[in-house]
Amino acid sequence: MVNFYLRGVNNFQEILKRKTFSKEELIVLIRSKGEERIQLLKRSQEVKNREVGNKVYFRGLIEFSNICSKDCLYCGIRKGNEKVLRYHAKDEEILDACRFAWKNGFASVVLQSGELSSPAFVDRVDTLLKKIKQLSNNELGITLSCGEQTLETYKRWFESGAHRYLLRIESSNRELYYKIHPKNDDHSFEKRIEALGFLKEAGYQVGTGVMIGLPFQTYEDLANDLLFMKKLDIDMCGMGPYLEHEDTPLYQYRNMLMSKQERFNLALNMVAVLRLLMPDINIAAATALQAIDPAGREKALAVGANVIMPNLTPCEYREEYQLYENKPCLDEDAELCRNCLEARIELAGAEIGYNEWGDSRHFIKRMQTGK
Ligand code: SAM
Ligand code: SF4
Repeated sequence: MVNFYLRGVNNFQEILKRKTFSKEELIVLIRSKGEERIQLLKRSQEVKNREVGNKVYFRGLIEFSNICSKDCLYCGIRKGNEKVLRYHAKDEEILDACRFAWKNGFASVVLQSGELSSPAFVDRVDTLLKKIKQLSNNELGITLSCGEQTLETYKRWFESGAHRYLLRIESSNRELYYKIHPKNDDHSFEKRIEALGFLKEAGYQVGTGVMIGLPFQTYEDLANDLLFMKKLDIDMCGMGPYLEHEDTPLYQYRNMLMSKQERFNLALNMVAVLRLLMPDINIAAATALQAIDPAGREKALAVGANVIMPNLTPCEYREEYQLYENKPCLDEDAELCRNCLEARIELAGAEIGYNEWGDSRHFIKRMQTGK
């Protein structure tokens, strides 16, 4: 059967060679299977190696608090989940994890948490940023992922040492956004978009991303998500499969979901297509991939990702930061995690960029051209 989306386009090979893509072409690529999929993944690997090289950069992930004021319908640590024991890791624990990262040549850490905007939380993050810079001779790069904040807060944290920020849009389709979030002021689609604008204005390398395989999500939504990232001119992306969690409202739609393997394959296709669409950005291999396939993150590295986030969260807290079921590495300490990743990455044929920040090339160009 002739693929309806291919009308007017000679063939798959021809789409693969393009630098710009229509929505219909993106859908063809995202949906590819079999021989065509092999071609897509081969092409994205070539583009990655040509544009950002064969190096993988480590960002030590510290999930420093699971206390959240929001109730996203998919997330295991949402405010309404009373089964979760809430924690704020102690300053010393966070700083120890940073020290480990620095001494082991990770060059960067990611501080991630639930979303809070109280003055006490804003102050705490600010103080931590300064202490991390101090303990590492100003050397550790710091990415934040602490949700929506005011422009003033983003600026303050930037001045105190954070230089990258991850804020996933989750879905760029407003209607779908409100199917996976409560429809109220605390979960406003417009505010999330505004926050992404604030991050750019404050000077960060800006990262966003989406969940792949959500209930109600279509291939057209996913193509629009990629176009959204292109239009926003992001510097980094972290996107991965949606994974259900029993204690969340979205769990009721689990029968609508694709199989986990299909979500996994689709997520890899999305990474590959994004690499073609935005060749010089940094793309993280999402931890959620590993919850489906033990070699999931390495597979993402092979087809377009170039950043990986080894988990440095103190082990005692990991059980309580379960965004979804089967979250990997719950009992691996930082040392084990590093050894395991090193071996896996070498197996995947890539080199680890120890002691290098590995900034987004896209961001560097953006700064040079003043955009
Ligand atoms: N609270 C901040 C925020 O929401 O931006 C940062 C931490 S939040 C836990 C980080 C990401 O986890 C979210 O952006 C979301 O995409 C992802 N996440 C949450 N629940 C998930 C699930 N069930 N499956 C896959 N990813 C999930
Ligand atoms: Fe909170 Fe982030 Fe989870 Fe939403 S996704 S409930 S903001 S931790």
